[in-house]
Amino acid sequence: RFCLLSSLLAFGLAQNFEAPEIQKEKHNYESDVARMRKIVINRQALDSLYSHKEIFLRELISNANDALEKLRLISLTDKSVWDGSEPLNITVKAIKDEDGKGGRLIISDTGIGMSPEELTKNLGTLAKSGTSEFLARAESDEGGAANGNLIGAFGLGFYSSFLVADSVYVSSVTPASAKNPEPVQHVFSSSSEDSSFEIFPDPRGNTIGRHGTEITLHLKEDSLEYLENPELMNLVNKHSSFSTSFPIYLYTQQ
Ligand code: ADP
Ligand code: MG
Repeated sequence: RFCLLSSLLAFGLAQNFEAPEIQKEKHNYESDVARMRKIVINRQALDSLYSHKEIFLRELISNANDALEKLRLISLTDKSVWDGSEPLNITVKAIKDEDGKGGRLIISDTGIGMSPEELTKNLGTLAKSGTSEFLARAESDEGGAANGNLIGAFGLGFYSSFLVADSVYVSSVTPASAKNPEPVQHVFSSSSEDSSFEIFPDPRGNTIGRHGTEITLHLKEDSLEYLENPELMNLVNKHSSFSTSFPIYLYTQQ
């Protein structure tokens, strides 16, 4: 299902993740992630990665869908996680900078979320099977056009964000539990220039609610088309089949 809520204004959405008083934990990426990021950032295997850059949205929507499914599954045996009353959904928001020179795409879900440890582990390491084969083939640019198929078959996952974004912020919070009655919303931040990533408490406080994840992509100059309504609507439509069970809301600015 797919809903369009056009002409959104004044979200009151704080965008500033920079707060000098907040202490940031710096982490190095696992070496396979560093290799993967380099391929994606430089769009190695150029033609095929560049022409497939729109796959980032499919990857992020499919991750959101997985997170919502996980929440629903866990709630079957643990009602404290989700009692069935809060909406389970995915939201895509396009926000242009005031100077008109850039913008952000924000993909949110009300799924299971990630703890700071999970942000570090899930986004800082690569656990996929076939990774080394993919890396080797992409690094040698073997197969040329066939790389398109490789991407389709393997999937770049979360790192495909860097096909279209210079910097990425993932803010997330997990449901409260007996072990952790007051979970704190944390941020994973990473930019294409840095070889490391940072984890820190969200300086905005809790903006997500009881559980979920919000991914903010600061778009590259050559990817600003995703801020435009028709482009984004087409893409969301194309990939909303991944999310048959949860509604996707799309917000764009006029
Ligand atoms: P994959 O989806 O194949 O596991 P990804 O690179 O797409 O690989 O994502 C890596 C991991 O990060 C996921 O397995 C999941 O644990 C975590 N993750 C990514 N996006 C989300 C999200 N929106 N909510 C919760 N966890 C997420
Ligand atoms: Mg994925």
